[in-house]
Amino acid sequence: MQRDFGISLWGEGNFVIDGDDVRVNHADKPALLSLTQEIRAQGHRGPILLRFPHLIKKQIDQLFEAFSAAKKEFDYQGDFRALFPLKVNQYPNFIHHLIHVSQGYAYGLEAGSKAELIIAMAKTPIGAPITVNGFKDKEMISLIYIAAKSGHHITVTIEGLGELETIARVHREFNAGSEIPVAPSIGMRVRLHSTGIGSWAKSGGYGSKFGLSSTELLEAYDILEKEGMAAHFSMIHFHIGSQMNEINPLKKALREVGHIYTGLKQRGAQALKAINIGGGLAVEYSQHAAMQERNYSLKEFANDVVFLMQEIAKSKGVEEPDIYTESGRFVAASHAVLIAPVLELFSQEYHESGLRLKAQNPPLIEELHALYQTINRLHAKEYLHDALDHMESLLTLFDLGYIDLEDRSNTEILVNLIIKKAIFLLKDEDTDELKRLESRIQEKYLVNFSLFQSLPDRWGMGQGFPVMPISHLSQKPTRPASIWDITCDSDGEIAFDVSHPLHLHDVDVAQEEYFLGFFLTGAYQEVLGMQHNLFTHPTEIVVTFDETGKYQLSDMIEAQNLMDVLDDLDYDTEVIDQILKHMVEASSLMDEQQKQDILDKLSLYLSENSYLKTIQAIIAEKKRG
Ligand SMILES: *Cc1c(COP(=O)(O)O)cnc(C)c1O
Repeated sequence: MQRDFGISLWGEGNFVIDGDDVRVNHADKPALLSLTQEIRAQGHRGPILLRFPHLIKKQIDQLFEAFSAAKKEFDYQGDFRALFPLKVNQYPNFIHHLIHVSQGYAYGLEAGSKAELIIAMAKTPIGAPITVNGFKDKEMISLIYIAAKSGHHITVTIEGLGELETIARVHREFNAGSEIPVAPSIGMRVRLHSTGIGSWAKSGGYGSKFGLSSTELLEAYDILEKEGMAAHFSMIHFHIGSQMNEINPLKKALREVGHIYTGLKQRGAQALKAINIGGGLAVEYSQHAAMQERNYSLKEFANDVVFLMQEIAKSKGVEEPDIYTESGRFVAASHAVLIAPVLELFSQEYHESGLRLKAQNPPLIEELHALYQTINRLHAKEYLHDALDHMESLLTLFDLGYIDLEDRSNTEILVNLIIKKAIFLLKDEDTDELKRLESRIQEKYLVNFSLFQSLPDRWGMGQGFPVMPISHLSQKPTRPASIWDITCDSDGEIAFDVSHPLHLHDVDVAQEEYFLGFFLTGAYQEVLGMQHNLFTHPTEIVVTFDETGKYQLSDMIEAQNLMDVLDDLDYDTEVIDQILKHMVEASSLMDEQQKQDILDKLSLYLSENSYLKTIQAIIAEKKRG
């Protein structure tokens, strides 16, 4: 990785490095560091989630522009429509801005559960589409009928034959006595024989959890005809799986679904006029050119979809279908950036000043010391090998009781310093051995966030997210870094990886602030985030820009405080509060004045969140008095 932390690969021009800073590449281009400092100056601690609605707009604009260009290029007759799948991000600060920035596109919402359906019914502008996927009971289908009767353009996607009978029942109930029956549009999810690829490929293929086989499709169509509901059957749907990293599986799936569409049309499915291609459009998360995750562009994606649908429709002489997409990751990922303070660098003890050399040292230690003082470019490798060899011998001597703890500490420090010097002297050589040695001198950065809460896909799926410091960028980052979160779980770590290393700056966090930015965290991470160790969703804030281009901070939602978290777990927090206070009041270890002070402190602490206060925060608070 270069000095730019791969921003040219994953950044899409959304952020730029300018001197020491990384700036939002929009309007007055605020530096992420100044946004962070402004928010922290209001007393907010711990990690901060920044949302940028202009980046939601950018993605939606690009999606519609790509399909509009493809339709034009091929003179395609079907419409293009798009929906946001709520499961990707249901947070109100996101949805509110998504609806706001997509005005004019009739951009809709896709729901996969009753609660999501309620959001879709309340938030989708009338005229924009709603689709409902996933398994449904009678109550959920009734909600869909309520939406349809309220004027929503809503499509219910059948996942299994059983749902059809329920739909027919609800249809009769809701339309008893009506002159003109009102019903949602009916879609059918098809079980494709093609599968996706990558970690999220399970949504496609014969073994997939969702969709109807071709036998079931034909049966379903017969049931619709028998129930007199065939006129409502308008869409077939598939979803190949998320973060589709190659385009070929999609093309295969499109051919398959295209022929299912024409087959049903030829069978007489008059009202059928749309193919919903689900989501899957990938996001480039990689910071390293050799590890890129997506082998196609948005333009290629749109062109392939439109071209293939046209080709198949033409070959069978049926009308070109409307195309619906439900791309979620592509729309949401870039809008959110998590900023988290570094609390501590763990290996700072490996400084020359930490040496405890004696008047008389064991000979091997004397030699290590001499190697450290005289290592030069010409002999760097040889000295390095000698140092590693001495270390092995010294550790054996320690095990056998021949050297003491101070000698062992001197060994650790000297070898660490020699490796660092050698890497520096040999930095132009770039050999495998040097890369491996980097992991031995890696610095452990303790960062004030929870990986389980803020990057759950890193923990669960091994998904990488771009990470970089938001300051110091005119300096070369020299320290091979691993990142530790503050949970008490050893999985809460982003380990140093020799094959795609991360280097960070050598900073003294007692003297200066150092924040890391985790990018592309706007899709899936928030609602999948777990309260492991009872760390909560971080404080979030929305960054918009006014007409003059000046940025505005708004819609802050603070991280939950300790008692709210316990309340969520259904603890009786009033009882807990009373117990704690009573323990202080009843204690015989304090006088009345001390008790009052402690009670004041206790209520203050209970009103705060779980994240740690950084050293700088404590200093700043002291300064404020
Ligand atoms: C998850 C899902 C999507 C969104 O997929 P992305 O990869 O985030 O674009 C779309 N449609 C359906 C049916 C889904 O289940």
